[in-house]
Amino acid sequence: MIEVRNLTKLYGDHAAVSDLSFNIEKGQIYGFLGPNGAGKSTTMNIMTGCLAATSGEVKIGGYDIVEEPQKAKKLIGYLPELPPLYPDQTPKEYLEFVAEAKGVRKAEAKKQIAHAMQVTQIEDVQNRLCKNLSKGYRQRVGIAQALLGDPEVIILDEPTVGLDPKQIIEIRDLIRELGKEHTVILSSHILSEVQAVCETIMIINKGKLVACDSAENLESFFSGRFELSLTADCGKERAEELVAAEGLNVEKSDEKDGKTFLTVSTQREDGDEICRELFFRFSKAGIALLSMSASKASLEDVFMKLTQESEDSPAEEQAPAGEQETAEGGSSAADDDASVIAPEEYKEEAGY
Ligand code: ADP
Ligand code: MG
Repeated sequence: MIEVRNLTKLYGDHAAVSDLSFNIEKGQIYGFLGPNGAGKSTTMNIMTGCLAATSGEVKIGGYDIVEEPQKAKKLIGYLPELPPLYPDQTPKEYLEFVAEAKGVRKAEAKKQIAHAMQVTQIEDVQNRLCKNLSKGYRQRVGIAQALLGDPEVIILDEPTVGLDPKQIIEIRDLIRELGKEHTVILSSHILSEVQAVCETIMIINKGKLVACDSAENLESFFSGRFELSLTADCGKERAEELVAAEGLNVEKSDEKDGKTFLTVSTQREDGDEICRELFFRFSKAGIALLSMSASKASLEDVFMKLTQESEDSPAEEQAPAGEQETAEGGSSAADDDASVIAPEEYKEEAGY
């Protein structure tokens, strides 16, 4: 349904989106997940023809968004980050205006507006001024607007931002409903949200796609990584040395009161055998292991690991101008840090 190929958007020498490629199949709900500044809105704006890419291409139902914008745009309904409402119009007036702008015929428009208002449950407020609506209702009007023209794909940029918990649940239910008849792509920086409504999760970080899979597959791939938390009755250096001798990666290591608290990981799957070997290695060295517990990676861990670097150091703010990431020479944050799961590693395994 949608093909995105090698999409790059540069602002000066900063790549907001960097060589992004993915496919969207018909009939699913996709979640575009990433921290603030990851490039979600930029990508959506390019996909919907609101923003020109620096390079790369987007095809909607086979139509290039730049070469055949009218045909391509007919297939998509878009709710941008800020719903483009006019404060002094009522939802009804606004929807009539949008339907006309989208070229929907009068009689058909009437039907579609009634349907959109019913689906988004805004019939009761249709004659109130938009400026007097709550944020939740304004968001619904924004979604109703996206439905006009009966597009196959609905693209929603952070549709629940700024809503209260009750409104969030209502909008999520609405998105699930939309998913029955449309292909839906929504963006969010909140994992639980994407997990709650999306069938496929695309994790984007610093303008790059770092994972794309179902929640279950993402979880099970990473849970293949065996993680152990240890408390060793010795100093940090000695503990790390013994763990490394076992071929394990040190994820975290803190020394306190002569004890070292470690988190280690491995791709080996024989968890019990690793525990046994560690137990004897430490005991041979005359050091007691005070605790040892295995843990599985949750989707939360997956998301944190894949996007860790951007939280630690928001690159575009901190890096000197000359060292900013660029489309050509940019190294992904994750590549630079051995403790972060390299996206490439994930991609290879996942086979895309
Ligand atoms: P997200 O929607 O994931 O929060 P955006 O797509 O809005 O991320 O932004 C991605 C990156 O591009 C950010 O680093 C942001 O600061 C930068 N950016 C976005 N729009 C502009 C612009 N008009 N000019 C310069 N930089 C921009
Ligand atoms: Mg955004």
